[in-house]
Amino acid sequence: ACKLIPGGVNSTARATWSGWSPYPLFVESGQGSRLRDVDGNEYIDYLLGLGPMIFGHRPARVTQAVVDFIQSRGTVFALPTADEARLAQKIIDAVPSVEQVRLCNTGTEAVLYATRLARAFTKRNKIIRFEGMYHGFSDGVYWSKHPSIDKAGPDDRPIPVPQGPGMPKGVEENLIILPWNDAQVLADVIAREGDSIAAVLTEPVMCNTGCILPKPGYLEAMRELTQKHGIVLIFDEVITGFRLGLAGAQGRLGIRPDLSVFAKGIGGGFPVAAMGGRADIMALVANGTVSMAGTYSANGIAISAANAALDELATPGLYAKLDAVSDELRLGLAKVLRDAGLPAYVVGIGPLMQVWFAKEEIHNYRDAERHADQEIFRRWWQGMLSKGVLFHPGAYENLFVSTAHTHADVAATLDAARHVAADLARTL
Ligand code: PMP
Repeated sequence: ACKLIPGGVNSTARATWSGWSPYPLFVESGQGSRLRDVDGNEYIDYLLGLGPMIFGHRPARVTQAVVDFIQSRGTVFALPTADEARLAQKIIDAVPSVEQVRLCNTGTEAVLYATRLARAFTKRNKIIRFEGMYHGFSDGVYWSKHPSIDKAGPDDRPIPVPQGPGMPKGVEENLIILPWNDAQVLADVIAREGDSIAAVLTEPVMCNTGCILPKPGYLEAMRELTQKHGIVLIFDEVITGFRLGLAGAQGRLGIRPDLSVFAKGIGGGFPVAAMGGRADIMALVANGTVSMAGTYSANGIAISAANAALDELATPGLYAKLDAVSDELRLGLAKVLRDAGLPAYVVGIGPLMQVWFAKEEIHNYRDAERHADQEIFRRWWQGMLSKGVLFHPGAYENLFVSTAHTHADVAATLDAARHVAADLARTL
């Protein structure tokens, strides 16, 4: 069991405390699928640093590439490099909708690039985004986790919400926040306001309200509506990109957005992000209309890491193996929860999955708020942690599987799950 650090939490709270974790687990190191805390406890890690560790911790190829780069060539260049061009070309080769690329360091920056570009290209201001999605912490698209659920307008149309304490005034005027997975709501708003909407910004699979799959036809409808009204469709593939396949969720689901955003897995654990898409839109960057700055954008460490990560991801059979281990976990968890008679189900696609403790199906954030039992989830999470299995403590967050996870990890996880589920069932 994980011990608390006596006095440690308070002293750390004074120095630096992000406040997001409900459990003071102080990480010491990681290796492969395992994470070790400062008390020496080991966990099978399905949090993966919130997703970047797509190969698990300390992946040999990526680590070596970064070490080689630092030792032989330096750290940051402010001028273009051949490695940068090679990385951009690899992304273009992997993702058919991407014709040109800009590199940066975080998903937040990449989303900022994309929305700025969409506004410049369309000469419009408004962005449609969706309740329960997260696109980084920039003021322009941040969502305060207090959506408009109880504040729907007379026609059940959600009212764009103020962005919460600390946000500049006026941001909400350019944001339209809609429930996801509802093509009719989207069509109605676009019919009414299409001429002022620059972009629709969405994850192709919802990953920041658990894992929620698009309803059949939803993304297709979104593509058609945006195309018809000259609205730029931006896929935020920060989580799904290079994880659901080399061409991300868009490749897997067969939808072609105008712009895409990648981060997390693309760096194999190092901070790298990319934004890219249609050449005619990207041309505004090349011709200097839209500025995309960043001292550390395309720095050598990031580029070396991402080049190595993408080479590794191109290994034949890698995604098939990742999917196989992930499916084993997803189906295994579903069976364990079913056998225990718990009101739960598991949703997933490839190495992304979510255990929902709910009696109704969940298709968007509103459903999650109405139907998901956060208290059972909290006890499930705590129970699994005490048995050495770590995943995101938020009731609405994904489990990630890495290429380092093995069948033995899955078996150990399911064993832990059987005990925790039985305990939970006894007390319900
Ligand atoms: N978009 C999505 C879908 C994300 O999940 C995240 C991070 N969780 C971001 C954007 C922001 O990325 P970053 O934390 O690298 O700024």
